[in-house]
Amino acid sequence: MAIRQYHFTIRLPRKYTKIINYLKPLQGNEWDCKVSELRKKKYGTGARRDELKGLIRTHLEKRQGHHCAFCGLDLRTRGAQIEHIAPKAARLYPQFMWESKNLILACPLCNGFTKKSTYDSIDILDAQYRNCTFKIVHPYFDDPNMHFEYVTHPNTGLAFLIKARLIKGVPSAQGAKSIELFGLKEPEMTEERYKDALANSLPVPNFDALIQEVTNKGYVS
Ligand SMILES: [Zn+2]
Repeated sequence: MAIRQYHFTIRLPRKYTKIINYLKPLQGNEWDCKVSELRKKKYGTGARRDELKGLIRTHLEKRQGHHCAFCGLDLRTRGAQIEHIAPKAARLYPQFMWESKNLILACPLCNGFTKKSTYDSIDILDAQYRNCTFKIVHPYFDDPNMHFEYVTHPNTGLAFLIKARLIKGVPSAQGAKSIELFGLKEPEMTEERYKDALANSLPVPNFDALIQEVTNKGYVS
C-alpha cells in the first residue's frame, strides 16, 4: 500500500542539534523566517537553519521514499514538501517544530491551504511528543491498515478505493478524520491514484468502470 507507516528517526549531527537549541524558545517562525531575523538569537544560526532544513529533506527523501505520507500519491511527479504533522504555528505546537517524528514529506494536495495547513492534529497534548494523542492516522505511530480499508484492483494490487476500517463495529475515528481532511475517498483522489498507475504503465481498469465501482461499493458519500 502506498500509505505506509514509517519507522525511521532522523539523527542529526551535533552541530545541528546545537542550532536547534540556540533557536529555543521556539515561537513558530523559526522554520521559515528570514535568516537576518535569526541572527538576533545567536550569530550564524540563520544560515545553519537553512542547512539544517536541507539536511532534514535529504534524510526524508532517502528514508521515506517517494510516496506522500498522507495519501500515498507519487511525490516524484508532484513535488514533496516537508510537513509538520502537528502544526508549528505560534498558537499551536512550535515546541515540536524540529521533532523528528513530527516531520514527513507530503504532496502539495495534502499540504495545501485547504487541507492540512494549520489543522490542529493533536487530540490530547503531552509535553513529550511521543505521548500525544493524534486525531489523524499518524505516519510514524499508526499502522494505516488498522484504520483504512482498501478495495484493491485485482490485477495490480493497487488501492484505488478507501474507507475507514471498522473497529468493534465503529469506523476508526482517526481513519475517518484522515479521509475527510485529505479527501482520500473523493473521486478526484481516485483519479490521481489512477494517473499514478498509468504513469507507471500498470494495467488499470477503464476509468468510468472504476468510478462506477467506487459508487457501487459505497465508498463515496
Ligand atoms: Zn498527499
